[in-house]
Amino acid sequence: MNLEELNKKYLLLSPEDRIHELYKDFGKVLFTSSFGTTSAFLLHLFHKVKPNETIYFLDTTYHFNETIEYKENLTQLLNLKVIDVKPEVWKNNFTNQDRTWNSDPDLCCSINKVEPIEKIKVNFDVWVSGLMTSQTTHRQNLKVFELKEDIVKFYPLIDQNEKIAKEYIAQHNLPQHPLLSQGYSSVGCFHCTVAGKGRSGRWVNKSKTECGLHL
Ligand code: SF4
Repeated sequence: MNLEELNKKYLLLSPEDRIHELYKDFGKVLFTSSFGTTSAFLLHLFHKVKPNETIYFLDTTYHFNETIEYKENLTQLLNLKVIDVKPEVWKNNFTNQDRTWNSDPDLCCSINKVEPIEKIKVNFDVWVSGLMTSQTTHRQNLKVFELKEDIVKFYPLIDQNEKIAKEYIAQHNLPQHPLLSQGYSSVGCFHCTVAGKGRSGRWVNKSKTECGLHL
C-alpha cells in the first residue's frame, strides 16, 4: 500500500485504531516521546495497544528537572520501557561551553537532537510522533503519514489538539506535566523554553519554531 492509500485509510480512523492498524501495516516501529505537556495522551494510547513498545527519549542534557521527574513518574505508572538517546559527549560539551542555543540554536538542536536520532532511525520502518496540525504553521499541512527523507513518519494525533489531549489525560487520571500549572503549555529544553500559551514559549525572540526532528 502506498502512502496515499495509507493516508486515505487512516484519516477515517480514531488515533487508537490508527495505532492498531500501524502494527498490521508496518514492522519495526520507532516511537519517540519528549515527555512534554501532551505526551501522556500518545503514551497511554500506545500503552493500551502495544504495552511492550520501546519508547525513545532524546536526552539533550538540557531538560527541566520537572520533565525528568515526569518521565520517571509516567514510566513507573504505565510500566513503560524507555531508552534514553544521548548526543555525543564531546559535541554536547561543546554546545554547553559555547552556549550554542544562543548563537546557533539550529546547530545546537542538530547536535543534541537530530544527530542522535539519525543514528538509530536506520533500524526502523516507521517513526511515530505526537505532532498535531493545530500546533504550528509548519504542522498544518501534515498528514497521518509523510515520507521524510528515508523513513515514513506516522502522526496518529494529527487531527487532535491540545484541548483534546488535556481532556484525555484528565479522563484517564494520568498525571500532568508539573510545569503546566506554572503556565508552560509546551516544554522543551530549559535554555529555550519560557512559560506561554501554545508553543509561544519556545525559542522566544528567535525565528526558530521547530527543533528540526520533524522538518
Ligand atoms: S532546544 Fe535549545 S538547548 Fe535544546 S537542543 Fe535545541 S537549541 Fe539546544
